[in-house]
Amino acid sequence: MVDVAVNGYGTIGKRVADAVALQDDMQVVGVAKTKPNFEARNAVENGYPLYAAVEERADEFAEAGIEIAGDVNEMLERAEVVVDATPSGVGAQNASMYDDHDVKAIFQGGEDDDVAERSFNAAANYGDCVGAESVRVVSCNTTGLLRVLHPLERDHGIGKVRATLVRRGGDPAQHGRGPINDILPNPVTIPSHHGPDVRTVMDVDITTTGFKVPATLMHVHSLNVETTASREEVIETLEGESRVRFVEPEDGVSSTAEIKEMMLDEGRPRGDAWENMVWRESVSVEDGELYLFQAIHQESDVVPENIDAVRALAGTADRDESVRTTNETLGI
Ligand code: NAD
Repeated sequence: MVDVAVNGYGTIGKRVADAVALQDDMQVVGVAKTKPNFEARNAVENGYPLYAAVEERADEFAEAGIEIAGDVNEMLERAEVVVDATPSGVGAQNASMYDDHDVKAIFQGGEDDDVAERSFNAAANYGDCVGAESVRVVSCNTTGLLRVLHPLERDHGIGKVRATLVRRGGDPAQHGRGPINDILPNPVTIPSHHGPDVRTVMDVDITTTGFKVPATLMHVHSLNVETTASREEVIETLEGESRVRFVEPEDGVSSTAEIKEMMLDEGRPRGDAWENMVWRESVSVEDGELYLFQAIHQESDVVPENIDAVRALAGTADRDESVRTTNETLGI
């Protein structure tokens, strides 16, 4: 049983904690929060030992009537692996604390890649990360790109990749984010950071561009890949990938809002879409170039990857076994 702590219990952290709790071979020994809000209250109600992420703010929890089990240092004493799901940049500040406690660490995609020994994606490089002291689960967009590009490269070989990323302005609960009634080339320079990020895991010739739009539900990628594979071969390869799901013509789903609705109707927790959602009708090959559209649920696609990263660091399963177990427990 691997003892897992989650430091930072927000959008990603609470989903990862719930996913860890579903596994038979790992358990949540604690979650750490900075402030005693509704998420802190729910963590306790869900049965997770709650720790104060900032020692000096521990009293605020008692004042709010929320019982804590101690501070973050005490949580780390109980953990073998910590999942850092703090805001971008905070993970790097926490790295030395994890070293001091001799606990293996999983960072998120908001951190620079040098925060950890390796960047991680279950499909692309699980084996390289087995037994590592730390990994960084690449961002939601990079995860979405790797899940398609790695199997295509493995089965057919690929040439130049061009990807346009239409990115949500903020997560649904991020009331302070934007844009509002606007479209931002983001960044306005080329490439966006996603192409270089893909290359921290996989050797591929890729250029990415990004736009931010006034939407909160999902990102959409327009992907263009040079390949000798036919449309049928591409589809066969992607059908073999458990974390790629086709949006079928008969689903009648033509937007990200409908994908979210479909996930809610299927009973997915929080309406999460853990897989890449590829519109089957968009998959086209013309003159040796593949085109496809995929929707990426930013809040949840990295969650199964974090679970696999725990097993890779702990060395408790090989990739196929871990991916199969994670998928079965989540319902992928
Ligand atoms: P979030 O703001 O929703 O949650 C972060 C949580 O960490 C909050 O509860 C915050 O109060 C807490 N926190 C702040 N400082 C802390 C500290 N010093 N110690 C412990 N907790 C602290 O952020 P998020 O969206 O969950 O993002 C977390 C990481 O995951 C970032 O690196 C982000 O780039 C990455 N990520 C986010 C998304 C997404 O779309 N939300 C997708 C993939 C990866």
